[in-house]
Amino acid sequence: MINRIKYLKALSHTLRTFSSAPNHFDVVVIGGGHAGTEACAASSRMGAKTLLITQKKSTIGEMSCNPSFGGIGKGHLMREVDALDGICGRCCDVSGTQYKVLNRRRGPAVFGLRAQIDRQLYKKAVQEELNSTKNLEIIEGSVEDIIYEDKSDDPERKVIKGVIFKQNDGHETQISCKSVVITTGTFLRGQINIGLEVRPAGRIGDEPSIGLAKSLETLGFKLSRLKTGTPPRILASSINYDNLEKHYGDNPPIPFSFLNEKVSIKPEDQLCVWMSYTTEGVNAIVRDNLHVNRHVTEEVTGPRYCPSIESKILRFGNKIHQIWLEIEGFDSDIIYPQGLSCTLPADLQLKLVRNLVGLENAEIVRPGYGVTYDYVDPRELYPTLETKKVEGLFLAGQINGTTGYEEAASQGIIAGCNGAGKVLNKEQLVVNRSEGYIGVLINDLVTLGTMGEPYRMFTSRSEFRLTLRPDNADLRLTEKGYKIGLVSEFRYQHMKDRREKLKKALDLLKDWKMGSNVWKTKLNMPQSKTSQPRSAFEILAVVGPPDVKEICDIDLPALSWIKDDADLCNRIKIEAVYDNAIKNQENEIIEIKRDESLLIPKDIDYFSKSLCLSFEEREKLRMIQPHSIADASRIPHITPSTVMRLLRYVKQNHQL
Ligand code: FAD
Repeated sequence: MINRIKYLKALSHTLRTFSSAPNHFDVVVIGGGHAGTEACAASSRMGAKTLLITQKKSTIGEMSCNPSFGGIGKGHLMREVDALDGICGRCCDVSGTQYKVLNRRRGPAVFGLRAQIDRQLYKKAVQEELNSTKNLEIIEGSVEDIIYEDKSDDPERKVIKGVIFKQNDGHETQISCKSVVITTGTFLRGQINIGLEVRPAGRIGDEPSIGLAKSLETLGFKLSRLKTGTPPRILASSINYDNLEKHYGDNPPIPFSFLNEKVSIKPEDQLCVWMSYTTEGVNAIVRDNLHVNRHVTEEVTGPRYCPSIESKILRFGNKIHQIWLEIEGFDSDIIYPQGLSCTLPADLQLKLVRNLVGLENAEIVRPGYGVTYDYVDPRELYPTLETKKVEGLFLAGQINGTTGYEEAASQGIIAGCNGAGKVLNKEQLVVNRSEGYIGVLINDLVTLGTMGEPYRMFTSRSEFRLTLRPDNADLRLTEKGYKIGLVSEFRYQHMKDRREKLKKALDLLKDWKMGSNVWKTKLNMPQSKTSQPRSAFEILAVVGPPDVKEICDIDLPALSWIKDDADLCNRIKIEAVYDNAIKNQENEIIEIKRDESLLIPKDIDYFSKSLCLSFEEREKLRMIQPHSIADASRIPHITPSTVMRLLRYVKQNHQL
């Protein structure tokens, strides 16, 4: 092990000469994945001289696993990253092959914006974006060590001085800086498993990060292990699509970015995805070959909500499982079989694939594999994502125990912004739970940790679901980002225009009142017995028709400017539909807050039918045994409505 004191003495001498040399940067970001690209872009936008060091320039923006972005909860995160002027939303709008909103039936608050993405186009868009970013330099190399000193006024803490990285020719270089953001994903002591074969790698084709893991350990960080996996890739032309269900995108597709009215692809040019199914043959292959499937039997936890085909079969028995066949890009002949992540030996993977409907003659282009990796306990972090142990050291992305591109991007933008803010003496950016899913994500991580499994976002993790909607992320966050210099003038003015128009339109609609029966006659709706006056806004609160355009068409010239603005009409309708529900939500939150000190009896029966708990909720509550309602409300995945039921159950059945 390096003698730190001797080493630092020698180094601090060298470092003094760096401040005016090109080897000095304000912020160094390590890793060009989804957290790193947002982090370095954010830091540069803040005005900090930023360096991105990543193993390969060609893998900047690489999607390690699925060719898609967004989904339930994840789409919300992307909208919030975009509202803070992040890059992933805009890059997805130019690289999507199919856009589809998930969860449509459950209402716009929980819409899951999602798109199939062309991997190559996405990477190209991200790389072009970064290459043209002011204040940003990019170097290829692998960071091997962190340089730090004891903090003079606090011997318990260290302070960042720089990094040491190895270039591809083996040459070692030191860079001095004041902030470092580590975003190394699955690479810390990464190991790939296929069958019984184990090899060191961060992901297929990439070296693991060993030196940096040791460096973090030396600094006293607690590292633990998690795992994930990816499916085999299949030759598209070897599949028989005749009996497979086709699924199409939305028309019109909804963009991720608030700056875009439309996405690049024409609605009619979107690619379809197909649905296939497993057969009994798949179950048998998995069960009969556990002895050659190291990844499955290893005692490391994988993602609960993106399980491998092996875990699904072991957990749910002989069920048939849906497998989505997603093309990896416009010019690609590779299919990503979503839901088929597996780590059997390659020959058995081929057998398994050929037991899917339509894939009887399929060819595998690359076998699936699993990866196990180190992550840092995120409770080591402040809500700014700066580490408690080392001033100026920030961590973001999968290194903090999360899973998913969107979770990584969300942390990246916060860490990059704060890394820069620290150097430039600007205010730190913390998103609260009531302001955004980014706040929910980071608050969960830094207070509760990962709870032993890769953390992914769901709308159910938020107690403010009705107000944290994808449609209003800009109204919630853009100004906050602008005030500290993260958001451009252009985007801020764009948001202000939307906000002013929305306010003006809502005021007009709230003031315009007629008897209910008059409204119904004018809108050709079933007659109402009451003539009680109601505002246009209240009439819009009905789920379904009428829409804003129909209301504007009635006869009010003062509203004619609204109806041609599709975005505005959409925002108004959503505001109206959620108005009452938001008031109820606020009342529930007040009720929970009022009774949060209520103790939960130790003998409570979490299996009671009247509690109506899901399997995961029961499991978590039984494991954690929350002491009070307040404790229960802080458990991830215990939703406010569950807390409400728990509260009422305790009050009714355990009169204390
Ligand atoms: P990454 O995207 O992994 O980026 C890390 C970057 O750091 C890379 O560019 C790497 O080259 C660079 N790097 C690493 N070490 C160094 C170093 N020392 N010096 C310089 N650069 C370095 N997510 C899901 O949601 N569902 C899934 O099913 C899923 N399956 C996955 C399967 C596999 C095999 C893998 C590898 C990942 C999977 N993921 C999945 C996770 C998803 O890819 C990550 O959550 C996401 O990419 C994390 O982003 P990140 O920026 O933290 O790290």
